[in-house]
Amino acid sequence: MAQIETDYLIIGAGASGLAFADTLLDELPDAHITLVDRHGKPGGHWNDAYSFVNLHQPSAFYGVNSMPLGNNRIDTVGTNRGFHELASGAEISGYFNNVMNQKLLPSGRVSYHPMSDWQGGEGAALAGRIVSILSGVQTTVAVRRKLVNAAYASPRVPSTHTPKFSVGEGVRVVPPNALVQLWQGQGPRPSQFVIVGAGKTAMDVGVWLLNCGARADAIQWVMPRDSWLINRASTQPGMEFFHQSIGGQAAQMEALAQATSVQDLFHRLEAAGQMLRIDAQQEPTMFHYATISQGEVALLRQITRVVRMGHLQAIEPAQMVLAQGTVRVEPGTLFIDCTASAVEPRPVLPIFQGSQIVLQLVRAPLPTFSAALAAYVEAHYPDDATKNRLCTTVPFPDGVEGYPASVAVSMSNQFKWSQDKALRQWVRNSRLDGFGKMVSEVPESDTEKMAILARFKQSAQAAMANMPRLMGARAG
Ligand SMILES: Cc1cc2nc3c(=O)[nH]c(=O)nc-3n(C[C@H](O)[C@H](O)[C@H](O)COP(=O)(O)OP(=O)(O)OC[C@H]3O[C@@H](n4cnc5c(N)ncnc54)[C@H](O)[C@@H]3O)c2cc1C
Repeated sequence: MAQIETDYLIIGAGASGLAFADTLLDELPDAHITLVDRHGKPGGHWNDAYSFVNLHQPSAFYGVNSMPLGNNRIDTVGTNRGFHELASGAEISGYFNNVMNQKLLPSGRVSYHPMSDWQGGEGAALAGRIVSILSGVQTTVAVRRKLVNAAYASPRVPSTHTPKFSVGEGVRVVPPNALVQLWQGQGPRPSQFVIVGAGKTAMDVGVWLLNCGARADAIQWVMPRDSWLINRASTQPGMEFFHQSIGGQAAQMEALAQATSVQDLFHRLEAAGQMLRIDAQQEPTMFHYATISQGEVALLRQITRVVRMGHLQAIEPAQMVLAQGTVRVEPGTLFIDCTASAVEPRPVLPIFQGSQIVLQLVRAPLPTFSAALAAYVEAHYPDDATKNRLCTTVPFPDGVEGYPASVAVSMSNQFKWSQDKALRQWVRNSRLDGFGKMVSEVPESDTEKMAILARFKQSAQAAMANMPRLMGARAG
């Protein structure tokens, strides 16, 4: 059996593993890194995505720290018109391929094992095996420094998950990936579409169907929960968006400072243009940091046949069985499964655990910024207590109630980074941060922008003071 040694063994060459490797390579010039992944290409779940997927957030601050993604272009057409470009799935895959082949491997300090399974030893053991999925060939690995679990927070996607509802004989259920093949089918085209699921993937499918000519009245949408959505207008980097983005953050802090309950908080955020919802008559209970434009919301509002009867349990040839009743379906209906939960709740763990690092968010909702910052901290700070203090894990909200805690930990981390000169500098210069550089470059003579920053600072303190009340309060 072949044997190798490495300093850092990273399980997962998805966005998190690559962002961690990229920064570690730059910050620890003597370290050797090995990446192992079951997928045949870098990029993790982006390899399994539907072909019409896009980032929800600007490309400008996604990916690895050292390599830009996209051209900082402002879109002039489509539902993202007026905003920074959003990389398509194909662009993201190509980008991560470039990260591997133009940065990591040419360094001579990185090895990559695609189509391979990591089989670790017991517990936090620093030895294990890389097993090739195609040949079964095994390589034993001795890890000199740390094992990095970059797969702990890995999302589930429709094309690789098994839906929880049962499917009767002859019922046609597909993942979103199959939609783009519909033009090829020999048989009859679907007469009706049912989108199953209420997350961003379901929204992408709704927008795609409408843009590709499906009639709105031919679409039904099974939506167990309504969701609050981040207004993409408030996520734009660049001075020209300062009022929207930083002014939006100040408004967010004011809402956090003044809200009397979580429900009140989201209503205040909606009034301030920070949050959107598809149906203004519904009170959303879901919040997963999905980001959307008002153009997409306007399109999705055309779908009026929304089924709010709880989770789908079974699809029978003539009806859907839901938690709260049944709904008749026509023959020839195509069901599109969008029920994979990209952000399945997982226990919050310390990131630095002796010989292991378990990558999780240190700022919500930015997994690649979080992984890169964890690598910087790993390279420059002495012990786990210090590292975990700087990188407290941010809990990902499963519903609206989880939002205040998620913001509170993100803010408290940000405060700790601001108190450490080197880390403050790194964050400010990181392309993954989005806003830090822009904020630091506001000239003092620009009184209007300085006033926004002062508003932000002032209300951030009041927001933190109000957090215990919001974290204790139930929605409503
Ligand atoms: C549709 C969609 C859109 C999104 N848009 C955005 C966005 O705009 N902005 C944003 O920040 N985030 C977005 N996300 C979140 C996204 O999940 C993260 O940005 C990121 O891609 C997650 O990467 P990851 O490396 O954590 O997980 P993954 O991509 O799942 O990578 C983990 C890898 O680990 C490998 N692995 C696991 N166990 C083993 C093992 N034992 N041996 C070998 N390999 C193993 C898996 O094969 C996988 O490739 C989106 C997610 C989805 C689903």
